Amino acid sequence: MSVICLFSPLFHFFGVLRMDGKAVKTILLYIYICLCVYLLITCSRSVPEDAHVSQPELKVEDVYIAVKTTGRFHKTRLALLLETWISRTKYLFLISLSLSPGYNMVVTDCQSDHSQQALSCKMSAEYDGFMASNKRWFCHVDDDNYVNPEALLSLLSAFPQEGDIYVGKPSLDKPITAHELLEGNATREVQFWFATGGAGFCLSRRLAEKMAPWASGSQFMRTSAKIRLPDDCTVGFIVEKRLGISMVHCPLFHSHLENLLLIGQRSIPQQVTLSYGIFENKMNSIEVKGSFSKEDDPSRFVSRNIHS
Ligand code: UDP
Ligand code: MN
Repeated sequence: MSVICLFSPLFHFFGVLRMDGKAVKTILLYIYICLCVYLLITCSRSVPEDAHVSQPELKVEDVYIAVKTTGRFHKTRLALLLETWISRTKYLFLISLSLSPGYNMVVTDCQSDHSQQALSCKMSAEYDGFMASNKRWFCHVDDDNYVNPEALLSLLSAFPQEGDIYVGKPSLDKPITAHELLEGNATREVQFWFATGGAGFCLSRRLAEKMAPWASGSQFMRTSAKIRLPDDCTVGFIVEKRLGISMVHCPLFHSHLENLLLIGQRSIPQQVTLSYGIFENKMNSIEVKGSFSKEDDPSRFVSRNIHS
């Protein structure tokens, strides 16, 4: 719309009216209204073209999926993942001690044991690897987790992509209590939620960047030593206690610390992660019908994978 079009009745006004006080007031009011309309039009034009365009669709290659593993599990656990969900997900990173060709393997010099230091050392490598990448989300899983990439993408897509998101499932029904080491051997009691590493969890890039002072390089191990708790607890501590951001509790992540038989068969395609493991001398795994017997496919991952 041209500005001239807006002002043309004004010229008409000047031509036909004698300039008494009332007419001047009317003209001024008219000029004021025209100016407002003009400003509104120009302001709306100056809004950037892309302001209303939503974020590009999230793809699996936008997610840094770090699988924590170790040499002695390569032939057993890792081989199972490689033949099931990993073969459907080209982009992922394996954090381990020895090389396996064809994947983005990050070899660490972490100790090969289950100690708090060794596990935190690997989480630190996972975090640093993500930070050095250009991926939009960081997700950690263990080598006894099955990941459903479609369910993961629909979960992550539902969050504001520029938000501070920490999503996973706690294995405890209340926040954990830690004794944070302070200067001079003093301690302070702190309570926070954390997402069980064995069920997998994800962090948005924006949040991961905010975690850097306590998580990047050697800082992660230092923070973990301060609360004397493992890697997954350390992530919860940094997010909830250092940054004051609450974890998002999500029931779609599963570790073998819970009874996996309780997951309804029909809801399995919606679950983001699954797991398996021995509990009280018995295999704890999901219930899924398939052509493979429980002897041939004790984890049920092969049967699960066939259904996808
Ligand atoms: N893990 C490791 N080094 C070890 C033992 C375990 O990196 O010496 C990894 C293992 O590959 C898995 C995670 O730590 O991804 C958890 O190990 P596991 O499932 O054996 O124990 P959980 O904590 O679940 O009982
Ligand atoms: Mn495990």
